[in-house]
Amino acid sequence: MMNRLNKTFLILTVSLATSGAIAAKSAFFGDPPDNHHPWAVHDHNRPLPPVVIPAAKIAQPPSDAIVLFDGTEASFHENWRHDRPADERDQDWIVVEGALQSMRGAGKLSSIAELGDLQLHIEWRAPTEIVGKGQGRGNSGVFFMGGMVEVQVLDNFKNPTYADGTAGAVYGIMPPAVNALRPSGEWQSYDIIFRRPIARDGVILDHGSLTVLLNGVVVQDNTPLEGGSGHKKRKPLDRIFPELGALMLQDHGNPVRFRNIWYRPLRPRAIDGGTDGRLSEESTLSKRSEIAEELRQHARALEGQPKALRLLESLKYEEDASARAEADNLIAQYAAKLKKIAPPEMEDEKNQVLSLDEALQYMHRHRLISNDYPMWSFVNDLAIQQGWKEDK
Ligand code: MG
Repeated sequence: MMNRLNKTFLILTVSLATSGAIAAKSAFFGDPPDNHHPWAVHDHNRPLPPVVIPAAKIAQPPSDAIVLFDGTEASFHENWRHDRPADERDQDWIVVEGALQSMRGAGKLSSIAELGDLQLHIEWRAPTEIVGKGQGRGNSGVFFMGGMVEVQVLDNFKNPTYADGTAGAVYGIMPPAVNALRPSGEWQSYDIIFRRPIARDGVILDHGSLTVLLNGVVVQDNTPLEGGSGHKKRKPLDRIFPELGALMLQDHGNPVRFRNIWYRPLRPRAIDGGTDGRLSEESTLSKRSEIAEELRQHARALEGQPKALRLLESLKYEEDASARAEADNLIAQYAAKLKKIAPPEMEDEKNQVLSLDEALQYMHRHRLISNDYPMWSFVNDLAIQQGWKEDK
């Protein structure tokens, strides 16, 4: 095993050193694209994930986070609006001691931004002074998609109530796995991953999910949304959610405070236009075609063996008669040139021969060239004759 890996590494290093303009690393390496994966395994054409600079402290916003509340009046007014018109609410939410506080009769507070799938961080604190019991103590909530589903906020520290209404519950749907609350009056932290349900042509393709960490403890793990939250009532499973909706904080009559609110949109799922993971055949073939076209474009700027390699590479993604014919032609021309080279100068061709051999072996192994492809055995035999590779 190690031997084989070492050999592969050697070949990679050789082509790395010589191929320069074509590709920094071998394009003929992991299993090729298939009907559900537009990229090869370990594909160097696959885009690298964007760089995100994490915050110095966990729970603080990383570089790509969108901050919805940073403790200031300005961020409150820029990012939030009252759901109820001014003449229908008794008072407004307020900013106090760097926190956003729910006020009785103020109604829900909505983010101005409409959000979809996201990672959300939000911290909350029930009043230090214990007032009320059950659902009446430190009750608020974090609602997604304009109120479709609620992650419960409640001070149920030593305050029993129904399980699917405790802190970290997907309200009315799923109790938290454990009660990881800190004592009343202490700050609690939520890290939430929300995935909206996706329906197409009236068919639910994904029921959506919530993953919730309360004070760093997993309390919801990919919990299906089951149509969303309801008080006393179940919602139909096929309830259609919007594509985007406001994040909402609940006024349940208790002065619950919130701080350090930020989110990051999540990458789209495969059924939602994403190109990572196992894709439908249609999306896969369309992405493969796009990648192949880019490679054929790159090939136009090249000539000779490097151009042949790039065209062969494009055939991994999409068959194309003219790319194949051109690659065949270039390889035949290169072989004709090799046949005329005097032995002392042959050493100069070593790297190009080996990288072509690697490509043809790969193409042959994955049935991207036929068994009787003439140049496959010619290049292989030449490499063996020269003592550049073992005769296996
Ligand atoms: Mg609530």
